[in-house]
This record gives sequence, C-alpha cells and structure tokens, in this order.
Amino acid sequence: MVRRQIWSRNCVAVGLSAGFLEPLESTAIHLIQSGISRLLSLFPDRGFDRAIIDEYSCNMRKEYEQVRDFLVLHYRSTERRDTPFWRRCAGLPVLPWRHHPLADELPAQKLEELLGSIRMLIHGAVDRIPAHERFIAEHCAARGVRG
Ligand SMILES: Cc1cc2nc3c(=O)[nH]c(=O)nc-3n(C[C@H](O)[C@H](O)[C@H](O)COP(=O)(O)OP(=O)(O)OC[C@H]3O[C@@H](n4cnc5c(N)ncnc54)[C@H](O)[C@@H]3O)c2cc1C
Repeated sequence: MVRRQIWSRNCVAVGLSAGFLEPLESTAIHLIQSGISRLLSLFPDRGFDRAIIDEYSCNMRKEYEQVRDFLVLHYRSTERRDTPFWRRCAGLPVLPWRHHPLADELPAQKLEELLGSIRMLIHGAVDRIPAHERFIAEHCAARGVRG
C-alpha cells in the first residue's frame, strides 16, 4: 500500500507515512533510506517545482511497486504446501504482463548462457555462505543451545 500523494507542497511522506508493504521481509528501512537519498538528490529550493515533486513521487511509487512485486514473487514461488495459507499463496494468479524488452535483443541460446552464468554465480555464492542454523549457532546462539 503506497500513498497516492507522497509529496504535497512542503510536506514529504517518508517511511511508514508514505507506505507499507509487509513485515516478514523487512523492506521498510531500505525504503526510508531510499526516500531520503532521493530527496537529497532533488533537494528542493523554496519554489517546490512541480517537476521535482512529480519526479520524486513517480520514482518512489515505482520503487514501492517493484519491492511489492519482488515480495509477491517469494510468496508465489514458495514450495511450501503444508498449510492452507501457503497453498493459497502458491496459487496466486500473478504473472508478469510482459518480459523485459532487452531479452528480445539476444538470441535464445545466448540468453540461456547468460542466465546459466547468473545461476552459477548465485549457486557459487550460496555454497560459500554458512547455513542459517550454523550462522546462528556461531554468532548469536541463545545461551545453552550453542551447537
Ligand atoms: C520489532 C520490529 C522489528 C523490525 N525490523 C525491521 C527490520 O529488520 N528491517 C526493516 O527494514 N524494518 C524493520 N521494522 C520496521 C521499521 O522499524 C519501521 O517500519 C520503521 O521504523 C518506521 O519508521 P517511520 O519513521 O516511518 O515510522 P515510526 O518509527 O513509526 O515513526 C513515526 C513517529 O511519528 C510519531 N508520531 C505519530 N503520530 C504523531 C503526531 N500526530 N504528531 C507528531 N508525531 C507523531 C511517533 O511517535 C513516531 O515517533 C521493524 C519493526 C519492528 C516493530
């Protein structure tokens, strides 16, 4: 949910006053930081030029929507089926309207190779980082349960 009008005259909504998406993936502080950075880069004089207000609002709304879509993807692509909630999420009828036009600029085989190398990079990074349980055990285990 994002406010229809994020900036009005000399009042800019940042953080929860601008919008809220969902608590599980904790994107709120990122959106606050991003709102502040964006505001600094357009820092207004006393004129509050309409073009600056529109640019800020349009880009912030777009960012909220992109984060929303990223969050929805996690719920939609879940492999959990153990409760009605997760089964309902897996059946969400959300599909992109279209693919990115840049994808049309590469032949299918090149695209496959490119996606393959991205997949390998991600797997490589995931293989190097410790599992969630091990990280907690090593860095912040509750007293008495260190592994
Ligand atoms: C337990 C917990 C863990 C969290 N973990 C994460 C995390 O890991 N990552 C993440 O991104 N986000 C996290 N969040 C969310 C994040 O902390 C909040 O979204 C963020 O702090 C909101 O900041 P804000 O400035 O928009 O609003 P707030 O922090 O709610 O600030 C609003 C301020 O306005 C004041 N106020 C309200 N009404 C009035 C009024 N009428 N007049 C004057 N002042 C008023 C309030 O007193 C308050 O000080 C977490 C939140 C909680 C509760």
